[in-house]
Amino acid sequence: PNGGAPPTAPHPQPLQQAVAPAPILAARVVTQWSPSSWRQCEIHQAVEYPDQSELEKVERELSGCAPLVFAGEVRTLQEKLAKATLGDGFVLMGGDCAESFDEFCVNNVRDTFRVILQMALTMTYGGGLPIIKIGRMAGQFAKPRSSTIETREGLDLPAYRGDNVNSEPFTSEARTPDPRRMLQAYHQCAQTLNILRAFSVGGYADISRLHAWNLDFMEHTKEGSMYRSLAWKIDESLRFMRAIGIDTTTSELTQTAFYTAHECLLLPYEQALTRQDSTTGRWYDCSAHMLWVGERTRQPGCAHFEFVRGISNPLGVKISDKATPEDVLHILETLNPQNTPGRITLITRFGADKIREKLPPLVKAVRDSGRACLWLSDPVHGNTFKTDSGFKTRDYDKIKDELMGFFDVHKALGTHPGGVHLEMTGQDVTECVGGDVGQVKYEDLNQRYITHCDPRLNGRQALALAFDIAESMRE
Ligand code: PEP
Ligand code: MN
Repeated sequence: PNGGAPPTAPHPQPLQQAVAPAPILAARVVTQWSPSSWRQCEIHQAVEYPDQSELEKVERELSGCAPLVFAGEVRTLQEKLAKATLGDGFVLMGGDCAESFDEFCVNNVRDTFRVILQMALTMTYGGGLPIIKIGRMAGQFAKPRSSTIETREGLDLPAYRGDNVNSEPFTSEARTPDPRRMLQAYHQCAQTLNILRAFSVGGYADISRLHAWNLDFMEHTKEGSMYRSLAWKIDESLRFMRAIGIDTTTSELTQTAFYTAHECLLLPYEQALTRQDSTTGRWYDCSAHMLWVGERTRQPGCAHFEFVRGISNPLGVKISDKATPEDVLHILETLNPQNTPGRITLITRFGADKIREKLPPLVKAVRDSGRACLWLSDPVHGNTFKTDSGFKTRDYDKIKDELMGFFDVHKALGTHPGGVHLEMTGQDVTECVGGDVGQVKYEDLNQRYITHCDPRLNGRQALALAFDIAESMRE
């Protein structure tokens, strides 16, 4: 009946029936996993501490500290990510490139949380999907570097690796890794999580307060007023629900679920916070609900993959345009042999100029293999550049363009664009240029450029992007 034409490609198998494809790369010798088995592997981005006994002391102390997150919470997140993998849900992951000791204060945590709430509301309303909120918070300290050495005026010093390793001033003392910084980071994470938990369930996130989430500096801006009109519409819907007898004081409307994630980079810290769950016997890295492996440390068989393959947290892996379909399938097979939806999230960071060409072969290969994968777009890391005046920045329009490319590719291939991963803050910083009304100009960058690593979208830029995302989700 098809006139002798070759049969069309089979439709991708539903995930539940997926058959594991043949291994693509030769499997390495699999050793027994343990929280410390990564130490037998090649370690990229390893930190050399001058005093080994001091490091061991800190590791012992951290091992005795309370877990920051709990296995039950991690499993709930995994279930939500599983639904999102199958098309029912969208992830909003955002926060600083690097948290810092100096910038830490309750108001900064609150303001980033607040913008994420506004963005999630905008996207739920516009996109009609549950939004899974995950902060790059309460653990996002360690930074991978392209060079371990920084040279200034002929002087070579170790590069700054994040506040849990060393500190930023260009002196030998500041740049020497100090293991005790892991303890300071841990205690800051505990405080941050305490604030986030209180805001999530203690009344702050009650939908009846949605007008109060607008930040002061957004008051007379385009994004602020777009948010305000949306808030009025939601208010009206709530009033209608109450009028017909629906209870609007249930926990779905008065509380929110908020999760944390960071790059799994500093393995002594991650190992020390890894605990065996008493109810299931599984291992969980209790430093965050979700961990991701960065673009620089995702070599198969090396330490970071060895560590994460044994923990039961949902995992992210960053993918750039350098990844091949074989690489991506290998990642999904080794980290998720059971093909469990929600276990693996691939976070693509290609750059606006490459995404439309480089993403389709990867998505197609995964789709046709039947492998479970949640796709997130990180539209910021592939669009970073230095201005003539020396500021590392990003242009709002390029970020938006990469995101639109991400939605276009998934739409064309019939796959689910599962979420976004952003470097952003609730503060009114001037680190990324542009915005819907061209609000940060090149000459403004020096006004409030305070990031410890990469440039972040400010509250207005982040909210503007949420309106753009909501529109794409609807299409
Ligand atoms: C980051 O997320 O801050 C980061 C370093 O990303 P990537 O690994 O994608 O470069
Ligand atoms: Mn970054």
